[in-house]
Amino acid sequence: MSIWVVSNKLRPLNPIDFEASDLVIPAGVENEFNQPLREPAARAAEAMTAAAADAGVPVRIISAYRDYGTQVALYNSYVARDGQAAADTYSARPGHSEHQTGLVIDLDDHGSCYLMGCFGETPAGKWLAEHAAEYGFIVRYPEGKEAITGFMPEPWHFRYVGPELAAEMRSTGIVTLEEFFDLPAAPGYAE
Ligand SMILES: [Zn+2]
Repeated sequence: MSIWVVSNKLRPLNPIDFEASDLVIPAGVENEFNQPLREPAARAAEAMTAAAADAGVPVRIISAYRDYGTQVALYNSYVARDGQAAADTYSARPGHSEHQTGLVIDLDDHGSCYLMGCFGETPAGKWLAEHAAEYGFIVRYPEGKEAITGFMPEPWHFRYVGPELAAEMRSTGIVTLEEFFDLPAAPGYAE
């Protein structure tokens, strides 16, 4: 699968239970649940987290690759707890989670903004937003783009697209994959 794959609420992975084959555990970085990444994303995550530590803003991985079965269990538990409409606002349906691509990391700084919007205001969150593109990552769900990506801002969720595309998006100022690739906005599921 291309590292430029666009997964959103209108574009399920194909096949829907896609399993990444080149998975490795990133080396030398704290990884809360020891989840792997596709090899190029793992290498980039190693470089980015090492640079963050050098810059005085150490971070850890709190989520990476989640397979289809894991997402089924996670999503169903949210639906059971909060109902489907609420669950759809914060959790992707199985086959629609970018984590299933193996190209995504969620990061945290051991602070009080674990998986929260305020992570973007922390020194670590600011450093990552500024430097992620150098390592081939983008902030996939930026502020102000909810109607396009279908997700609330997630300043902790970094998607690997490779340094070339990340640099191109940065230089053109186009911050979503949907806009960059001229794809329809995906504010919600087709049902
Ligand atoms: Zn995430």
